[in-house]
Amino acid sequence: MYHYVRGETPRPPSGYYHLDIGDFRAQLDYLRDEFTMLSEATFRRCLRGEQSPPTDGIVLTFDDGLADHHEWVLPELRERGLWGVFFVPTAPLVYGRRLPVQRIHSLVSEYPGPELLDALDEILEAADIDLLGDVRSMYEGRDTADSVRQFKHLLNRAVPDHSVSGVLDRLEGQFPAAQTDVSELYLSASQLRDLSEAGMTIGAHTVTHPVLSDLPTAAQRWEIRASRRQLSALLGEPVDLFAYPYGGAESYTDRTVELVSDAGFTGAFTTVDGDADATEFRETPLTLSRRDCANVEHGDATFSLP
Ligand SMILES: [Zn+2]
Repeated sequence: MYHYVRGETPRPPSGYYHLDIGDFRAQLDYLRDEFTMLSEATFRRCLRGEQSPPTDGIVLTFDDGLADHHEWVLPELRERGLWGVFFVPTAPLVYGRRLPVQRIHSLVSEYPGPELLDALDEILEAADIDLLGDVRSMYEGRDTADSVRQFKHLLNRAVPDHSVSGVLDRLEGQFPAAQTDVSELYLSASQLRDLSEAGMTIGAHTVTHPVLSDLPTAAQRWEIRASRRQLSALLGEPVDLFAYPYGGAESYTDRTVELVSDAGFTGAFTTVDGDADATEFRETPLTLSRRDCANVEHGDATFSLP
């Protein structure tokens, strides 16, 4: 699993979970030399239960529909004849809107956590926004890592959905280096088609990248089904792979998995750390585990929190 992969670029987020292009190249060479890189045909046979995945099999996946994937990733995959799956949220493409998740990454990468958290407190208090859930305990620690965690938690889980964009607008007003243009950050429709025409597979990743487990069933169903419909329309072909936003065990429920199945998806990935082995393919193909490539060979060189 990859997210941001980039070389020198002026656009945020910088230094935040991004993998440097040099490390990415080294990883691809290492993976190709040491493991079996699955073709799409083999991967699909494994999904259909027609064969077991090889124990050293690798499938490359890229989340969030980032422009990085066209600019930096695609040339490297092409050069090596490798296949990958790209999970693309549709709101940037269909509505021209940046998603809270990347706006938060940009803020956190450009400014110190304690400053961001103080500003967020003030904005929430001034706007008298009612927070969801018990967040009082979140305010205890104030070192940088804690404050970043709290900042993200508040915006991702505690500020009601309809208030998040407005709060982020105000934060970016105070922290302008975090502002990015939607077209610089995300894949355009033509870049998406380039990926597809180069033999890559495009999978759904909802419309707005919410924590699905926080949503009522009808809203989950819409996020799942609309993203599939919108992507299929953009590509002119069906989309049958899915990845859960955030993807940790707490980010989806059994009901979510049912909705993913009902929508017609045949394979889905979580971000639960582990190997998608033969048992997972056979028994739980809609909750396949992944490994974050920030944590494998050549993967940790640029990970840092401000
Ligand atoms: Zn994502």
